[in-house]
Amino acid sequence: MSHPHDSRRAQARCPICRRPAVAAHAPFCSATCRDRDLLAWLEGRYVLPGPPAADAADRDA
Ligand SMILES: [Zn+2]
Repeated sequence: MSHPHDSRRAQARCPICRRPAVAAHAPFCSATCRDRDLLAWLEGRYVLPGPPAADAADRDA
């Protein structure tokens, strides 16, 4: 028997703490790391850096 995909599929690791990932929480090792990643993603979304609106108005006038 041969499983061509097996050799390509390396042990996935948690991007947060680098421990071996668990299928139930893939690609993370635990719900804790999954939540941490989600929170970081949400914070990045909510923070919207940009130039001050007053600057654009000043240039227009
Ligand atoms: Zn982890």
